[in-house]
Amino acid sequence: AIPVICIDGPTASGKGTLASEVAQRLGYQLLDSGALYRATALAAQDAGVDLDDEPGLARLAAQLPLAFRDHKVFLGGRDITDPLRLESTGGMASRVSQHLAVRSALHALQLSFRRLPGLVADGRDMGTVIFPDAPLKVYLTASAEQRAQRRHKQLISKGIAANIDSLLADLKMRDHRDSSRAHAPLKPAEDALLLDNSELGIEQSVQQVLNWWQG
Ligand code: C5P
Repeated sequence: AIPVICIDGPTASGKGTLASEVAQRLGYQLLDSGALYRATALAAQDAGVDLDDEPGLARLAAQLPLAFRDHKVFLGGRDITDPLRLESTGGMASRVSQHLAVRSALHALQLSFRRLPGLVADGRDMGTVIFPDAPLKVYLTASAEQRAQRRHKQLISKGIAANIDSLLADLKMRDHRDSSRAHAPLKPAEDALLLDNSELGIEQSVQQVLNWWQG
């Protein structure tokens, strides 16, 4: 089987950075599964589909005209790289992702990223639902305070005004919604290795994952 490394964990735990760094070092494909839920949310916004309209959302998810090119993401030809990363888009994605029909509609698309020589998959349910046979599953955590601080720094460095307290509140609300939902709730797979990166730099986290992989 084509090898898969799953990296799951809560919002703003640094999964995206870690996953893309590990994929690059190994020359593997990368799946940012959150981007699929985010793109579905943006597609719904464009089409005027309500975030509670499960069949409407599932129809959009099943035929997302999504393309990844040169570190950019396109939805039907429109460059959505920036809107995709907005906090508000993450919030909408979290609502969209509650619906089982949406999750099912995105299932096959996620499997299609499993190509040679291997895949690093980043999300909430990579190890529990999408790639249960993956030989390495990492569950990445950091304290909510750490995560809010990092997100704050990131936004400020991009010149976007941000408030730590409201970021922390948003993040806790999203954690709660993601881990208490009925379908594919956020939780470590039984065979996941836990990595708390509260006190680790990105390079240290990358090395830990590579050690597990090569170990
Ligand atoms: O990881 P990211 O912040 O891009 O994910 C946005 C939202 O999409 C998450 O809050 C979560 O609700 C949802 N998601 C999911 N399953 C995944 C990836 C993301 O439900 N595999």
